[in-house]
Amino acid sequence: MEAPFVDWLLARLPRDPRLEVPPGDDAAVLRPPAGRRTVVTVDLLTEGVDFLLGGDTTPERVGHKALAVNLSDLAAMGARPEAAVVAVALPRLSAAAIGAGLYAGLAPLAARFGVTIAGGDTNTWDGPLVISVTAIGSVPPGAAWRRDGARPGDLLVVTGACGGSLLGRHLDVEPRCREALEIAARFPVHAAIDISDGLSLDLARMMHASAARGIVDLSRVPIHPDAVRRSRLDADGTSPLDHALSDGEDFELLLALPPAAALALVIDPPIGLMPVIFGEVTAGEGLVARSADGTIEPLQPRGWLHDGT
Ligand SMILES: [Mg+2]
Repeated sequence: MEAPFVDWLLARLPRDPRLEVPPGDDAAVLRPPAGRRTVVTVDLLTEGVDFLLGGDTTPERVGHKALAVNLSDLAAMGARPEAAVVAVALPRLSAAAIGAGLYAGLAPLAARFGVTIAGGDTNTWDGPLVISVTAIGSVPPGAAWRRDGARPGDLLVVTGACGGSLLGRHLDVEPRCREALEIAARFPVHAAIDISDGLSLDLARMMHASAARGIVDLSRVPIHPDAVRRSRLDADGTSPLDHALSDGEDFELLLALPPAAALALVIDPPIGLMPVIFGEVTAGEGLVARSADGTIEPLQPRGWLHDGT
């Protein structure tokens, strides 16, 4: 990439006391927060696979999403966001405009969540837009939330309504970072995962990791209005509940907590959050669906599988 764009970018990056050596050198040097563990996550978004530029899908929204999905993974670990590095391959024809757009989407989100952009790499090529963000967070020793800690007797909580995100919410991801930190400070969370690929699929992953069975109360799954709209647009009769269970890209948190903590969380949640108890953990494996009349049947986890097909 031409030096002017990189210079333009470097001039815009806010200074941050966490950076002993700022971007522009061979590498940045971060001062890790004293007494905390470093949490690292990376995500890759490719035009044509994860999004299509054009119409409402602007470089700004893609830049926002590329950082937001990483921050959601930090939230799912109960971690505080600290820094991010960004690598992009820009389509040659409009490289500078797309690069500036990505930054315009990414920078305000970074500022809101206290993330310092510690560096990156920019290339141009004849292919589609590719953006990869690596986010770095911190957590007290031993305090990271994991997906393998759910125990029989825990209740299952989801932090918001699900389904229909493809109508637009999938681009305007609002990561649950602040809410996660408040919940971590107040409640004993046994297991956590963020809903990227589908409520049922991500819950199945948590149950598999925890060697436990998840019971989903179908009448309690919070259904987003977008899931209802999606269902009306469907020719195949997919129900709003099915959309809520399988659409993905909701980026809500799915938590397993002891019953008293789960009840306290839904009664007095972090401001702006509407968590719902939608099931429980029991001995066994896999997922089952419980209907309002108590009938139980197997629940096939469904959602977005990243197999490139
Ligand atoms: Mg995740």
